[in-house]
Amino acid sequence: MSPMKLKVPANIQSLIPYPPGKPIEELEREYGITGSIKLASNENGLGPSPKALAAIAAALTKLHRYPDGSNYYLATRLAEKLGVAPAELVFGNGSNEVIELLIAAFLAPGDEVITSQPTFLVYHTMVQAKGGVNRVVPLKKLAPAEVLTSTTGGAPLGVVHDLTAILAQITDRTRLIFLDNPNNPTGTIFGRDEFEAFLAQVPEQVIVVLDEAYVDFVAHAQRIDVRHYLAGPVAVVGLRTFSKAYGLAGLRVGYGIMNAELAGYLHRVRQPFNVNLPAQVGALAALDDDDFYRQTLAHTGAGIAWLTKEIQGLGCQVFDTHTNFFLIDVGGDGRAFYEKLLRLGVIVRPMSAYGYPGYIRITVGTEAENQRLVKAMAQVLAEV
Ligand SMILES: *Cc1c(COP(=O)(O)O)cnc(C)c1O
Repeated sequence: MSPMKLKVPANIQSLIPYPPGKPIEELEREYGITGSIKLASNENGLGPSPKALAAIAAALTKLHRYPDGSNYYLATRLAEKLGVAPAELVFGNGSNEVIELLIAAFLAPGDEVITSQPTFLVYHTMVQAKGGVNRVVPLKKLAPAEVLTSTTGGAPLGVVHDLTAILAQITDRTRLIFLDNPNNPTGTIFGRDEFEAFLAQVPEQVIVVLDEAYVDFVAHAQRIDVRHYLAGPVAVVGLRTFSKAYGLAGLRVGYGIMNAELAGYLHRVRQPFNVNLPAQVGALAALDDDDFYRQTLAHTGAGIAWLTKEIQGLGCQVFDTHTNFFLIDVGGDGRAFYEKLLRLGVIVRPMSAYGYPGYIRITVGTEAENQRLVKAMAQVLAEV
């Protein structure tokens, strides 16, 4: 086949596609294993919300219809729950799509976006894809006593978003700042006072995006509630998702909370039916599945505390977290450790792509999965 004579823009040519993990079934075939477990993507170990499943099953006979392009029922119920107006919510095919909509709506080619390193990888890719310029600020180091810790029992990981260094990167071309709080992959947070001091110095043409994918796992007293900042003067957008605490990652539904003017611009650039029909009814039902939500929080907290203790007992350093995942320092080559766990049927995430080559990231699973992980780690550690 002769090379096509396409004129692909340089920003697309140089993009590295997100490396999709192989389906578990393929990995099992490759490694000759069965019954493996996946603790790699911060999914909900309890499975999907049962109420969501029932609602989706009941809606399947309507699949010949386009979904409601306004997400009317989901927006109305969620707005009521959050105490905001439906016009202050924008839904997406996962909160990932809302990230894309923000960039599509507010970035002209050459405009700048500030992100951190390491952080969620999607921000950087989307900015480059749309012809924007990434300005990347390393997380800052804190003394252990300065870290906002949770109750998981892990060691404080002394790195968090460097809000002061981010301010120093703002120029006339800056349009967006992405802050995931808690941060993925570190599990760390910054506090409300620090955030407000930061906001006071952000110029008004900049939109601050607070990605709260894991907010459900943060203690109430430590949450930054984006709803306090919707009226400005600086535009603040909160991002939330049904992928984590609600157990619906496969359904792809998330949303942004923002003032109605900003939301109006996102509606201009989104596709009319960007949230599919099962996603709308599933998310709506999950919102009122209080039992499942409570169980998820209890299960996650207990699982993290148990795993922290057990893995520390194996001699590995485990880090404190405000999420459903945590980092482990495996004391050597994280990628090799990941490979060895894989051979034992335990899939975790190596952290070299995030700049932590000696670490792996693990998501809390079911009790049986957590036990299996600890056993597999003990076996790998005994080998070396
Ligand atoms: C998991 C995650 C999300 C969720 O993305 P969805 O598209 O809603 O599944 C968003 N931000 C961060 C930082 C995450 O880790």
